[in-house]
Amino acid sequence: MGRIRKKTLIKNVIAEDMSKDHLAVYEMLDAPKHDEDIASELNVKATIVRTILNDLHKNSLVEYDRSKNKKTGWYTYKWKRREEEKVLEYVKEYLEQKLSKLTENLNYEKSGTMFSCSCRKVPFDIAMESEFVCPKCNDRYEEFDNSDEIDRLVSEMAEVKELLELT
Ligand SMILES: [Zn+2]
Repeated sequence: MGRIRKKTLIKNVIAEDMSKDHLAVYEMLDAPKHDEDIASELNVKATIVRTILNDLHKNSLVEYDRSKNKKTGWYTYKWKRREEEKVLEYVKEYLEQKLSKLTENLNYEKSGTMFSCSCRKVPFDIAMESEFVCPKCNDRYEEFDNSDEIDRLVSEMAEVKELLELT
């Protein structure tokens, strides 16, 4: 059970942080593969696959073996996934960043009464500075009940904390 949840978590984070295409490439690396082979299996250009592999490599999710073709003198790269422990470090870092962003948003929402016009939401001091009229849309700022937003942030933070325990 724990292993399946971990694998699902890794997939979700890669898709959320990078993209579904990154996840597709990552998933193909259950065995070591050349970038050209990944490209032909996914039916996309090799340059796209290389860009994606470089992104995955920057996040320490994949590694490669480089070898020189003796005839052509060109290098070929065989890519593989890094061990799960390494991948979970990336997942953990991503979730920690997400949690701190949510905490920041929560503190902002709780910092005082919020006001809204037709184009945005601002805290009391900003609304007061422009005498409760939005300089962008000329609407009056009305008091805004953000308790739903606060509830949403609190429950999202609880979810992220629970996921962090898997890493
Ligand atoms: Zn406005």
